[in-house]
Amino acid sequence: MFLNVSLTSNNLGNLINSTFPRLGMTKSISCADVGSDCGWSATADTEEDLLSKVAEHAKEKHQGLEVTPELVAKIKSHIKEI
Ligand SMILES: [Zn+2]
Repeated sequence: MFLNVSLTSNNLGNLINSTFPRLGMTKSISCADVGSDCGWSATADTEEDLLSKVAEHAKEKHQGLEVTPELVAKIKSHIKEI
């Protein structure tokens, strides 16, 4: 089967752009990453967005958890780029 090389690379570019809107800098975190027995995880384009999702989730599902600067630092250290 003949493959048009330029069409193929365009398609690949579109795929990468739709999967990784900011050049592969999608950030990911899960509760399990920070040692919580919880199946929750989230992704966001920026660390700021991701941390606000974490804060929202903590408020909903981890009531009583104190979000200290130490905890935020721990969360940040476990953020993965995917
Ligand atoms: Zn959780």
